[in-house]
Amino acid sequence: MTKKYIFVVGGVMSGVGKGISASSMGKILQHAGYSVSAVKIDPYVNIDAGTMNPVEHGETFVLSDGYETDQDMGNYERFLDRTLTRDSYMTTGSIYQQVINRERSLGYDGKTVSVVPHVPLAVIDQIKRTSKKQNAEITIIEIGGTVGEYENILFLEAARMMKRENPDDVAVVLVSYLPIPSTLGEMKSKPTQQAIRLLQESGVFPDIIIGRAERSMDKPRKEKIAAASMLHSEDIISAPNLDSIYDIPKHFQDEGLDSRLLKKLKLKKKSNKQAKLSQLNWKKFVKSSKQQKNMVNIAIVGKYFNTGDFVLSDAYVSVIEALKYAGYSQNIQVNMTWISAGNFENKTLKLSVLKKYDGILVPGGFGNNGIDGKDMVIGYARKNKIPFLGICLGMQRAAVEFAQNVCGLKNAESDEQNIKNSLPMITIMTDQVSKIADGKMGGTMRLGSCDAVLKRGSLARKIYGTDIISERHRHRYELNPEYVDVLEKNGMIISGYSPDGLLPEIIELDKKLHPFFIAVQFHPELQSRPLTSHPLFDAFVKASFN
Ligand code: GLN
Repeated sequence: MTKKYIFVVGGVMSGVGKGISASSMGKILQHAGYSVSAVKIDPYVNIDAGTMNPVEHGETFVLSDGYETDQDMGNYERFLDRTLTRDSYMTTGSIYQQVINRERSLGYDGKTVSVVPHVPLAVIDQIKRTSKKQNAEITIIEIGGTVGEYENILFLEAARMMKRENPDDVAVVLVSYLPIPSTLGEMKSKPTQQAIRLLQESGVFPDIIIGRAERSMDKPRKEKIAAASMLHSEDIISAPNLDSIYDIPKHFQDEGLDSRLLKKLKLKKKSNKQAKLSQLNWKKFVKSSKQQKNMVNIAIVGKYFNTGDFVLSDAYVSVIEALKYAGYSQNIQVNMTWISAGNFENKTLKLSVLKKYDGILVPGGFGNNGIDGKDMVIGYARKNKIPFLGICLGMQRAAVEFAQNVCGLKNAESDEQNIKNSLPMITIMTDQVSKIADGKMGGTMRLGSCDAVLKRGSLARKIYGTDIISERHRHRYELNPEYVDVLEKNGMIISGYSPDGLLPEIIELDKKLHPFFIAVQFHPELQSRPLTSHPLFDAFVKASFN
């Protein structure tokens, strides 16, 4: 079949759920029998999302091949249940880098290399390459930002060029926002009409418009938008706030989005076994997300929650989703509370607030902020036998806390904290030293999927039910193997190692010391999917419930 492409662009403002809408669109096209993949375009100049502060940008989602990408890539992997590769992600920076590298190797045969058409052509090349590599019949391409911004104009140009070449194979969906100002109490369609104009100015005409709003869009407003865009009112899809993001695919089907999209792309619904099964499994998953008999309260103690006067959980999306899936699959509602570790340091919060939680999770992070608070919380979970899951930085701090307070190594520290005369409990990985010295900080951590070998008889081995696992990583520091003996003598077990036996990957406390205390150097949340909840999160939620 000829490959089809759907560009998804945003109107009016960002943050209205364009990525989730695009992922849900992908899901219903899968249910219509097609193999679907996704490409995310971020218009910033950074080559990838790895060098950005999580408070500013949200979570960095690491792909299996180690590419550091935007959190929307996590949505695509989770909704489409598909492992994406680095070709599925691009930025202005990465595209310019490709063009410049090609020019430097005489790849343009002596021609003048111009912003147009060469930059959009490089975008198109990458989109087509991805669709081929992923064997996708339909590829969804989400262009970050909103129409009218200077930054994404070259990506819209790529959409325009592709559509001009093959009008039947390319559709453009505008995800726009319809405010309901409280002073008026009425849904306003004008900003969306203006977004349509802006899009048209760049030569791109929408085939479908998804109207995000707090409430459903009524007929008169659908008609106004249809008139402004020269579309049929059936092409205007209402997307009100729903209870859960996982309800969106079904809602889109009810709105007829699948049939409209297929019609635009000159495709017919296919009925194959795989599509039926995938639809059935999704239905079961959504059902399980609605009715849990039991409940647990989990505290996530992190350091990237506060932005100005607002508290955001964006930096930990995958952790949050992974906890939800673990709950759904075991009939347990997981109530999550995010707490800034810094609040324990400045005494805004007393450690005893942790008493009310059934489980404590300390996720990953970088730098010095909130470190003492994290250590205090880990110590509290350890002493009070509250089920504990540490991830990446959470594991490193669990080792330091144990060394300081149980093994009597008062000066044990992580080199990342840069404290003079400390014992290097957590050290920089050897291959990282020269990278840092050369200032090579982007894309140089230990990244992506690596195997680990689990220790027989350990909690980790029991949880995973297998000897060898593969998990995604993102770190520069590691637990110093020289301290393994002293940790183990005191009851901490190193239950997972890299296959060469050099890098400790999992630590846990002997069950005589603690019923459930486990921490991992990798990021298990990145591989947790709606239909295949992650064993480590399952075990943590279960232990918290017991
Ligand atoms: N900052 C730590 C390191 O670089 C932990 C990283 C993380 O939590 N992702 O090793």
